[in-house]
Amino acid sequence: MTKKYNRILLKLSGESLMGKAQYGIDPERLAEYAQQIKEMADLGIQIAIVIGGGNIFRGLSGATKGFERVKGDQMGMLATVINSLALCSALESIGAKARVLTGVRMEPIGEYFSKTRALECLNNGEIVIFSCGTGCPYFTTDTGSSLRGIEIEADVMLKGTRVDGIYTADPEKDPTAVKFDDITYDEIYVKGLKVMDLTATTMCKENNLPIIVFNMDKPGNLKKVLTEGGIGTLVHN
Ligand code: UDP
Repeated sequence: MTKKYNRILLKLSGESLMGKAQYGIDPERLAEYAQQIKEMADLGIQIAIVIGGGNIFRGLSGATKGFERVKGDQMGMLATVINSLALCSALESIGAKARVLTGVRMEPIGEYFSKTRALECLNNGEIVIFSCGTGCPYFTTDTGSSLRGIEIEADVMLKGTRVDGIYTADPEKDPTAVKFDDITYDEIYVKGLKVMDLTATTMCKENNLPIIVFNMDKPGNLKKVLTEGGIGTLVHN
């Protein structure tokens, strides 16, 4: 099996970790992800991961319930740390080498992120999980993922979702929606497609980081994207 990429940044949403639950982490879903990720690391692909925190807390929805926004965002960032530790533990339990780096200082939970340290770990064959998104409030983990992907000079950013790509409309609501095999960042702006927030999309556009949006919940899909291609939607300049 030949790999198409040497170094990738995989973005997983916090919600995807819930599986069928309404909140928190589903151990089965976590184990499934860990297995798929380990298999790809075993192929020699350098894998960095950013996980969201929406299955636990989101600053913006906290603000509507009376939480002060910056504190709410900090709570959200801490939620990403919980998810990152869970995935790291699931990876280690199946014999993968994995490590959590944090965007906010919190040793001994994880080392503070730096590009140098991240590359050292990746070159050492470790799966590296970047927690806390960007480390700053008012951002999302999609933006954290674009930022880290660009910093570590990833070949591509993979955005694992529960649909199999980008559609003309929400396929869960509109049965006439049609999937794009590929699309430019500019078309995303013009068509107003909700792929990622604009800050994240703009960072990828300006720094030429291609994105592949695909369905991560179908076992085997991660492998297909990384070895065969032909699934999901490719976003490019
Ligand atoms: N967050 C933040 N700065 C970042 C990334 C995340 O403040 O750089 C906070 C923000 O409150 C966000 C929460 O962490 O709502 C969880 O992240 P996100 O909503 O991106 O998670 P996802 O939707 O991917 O599960």
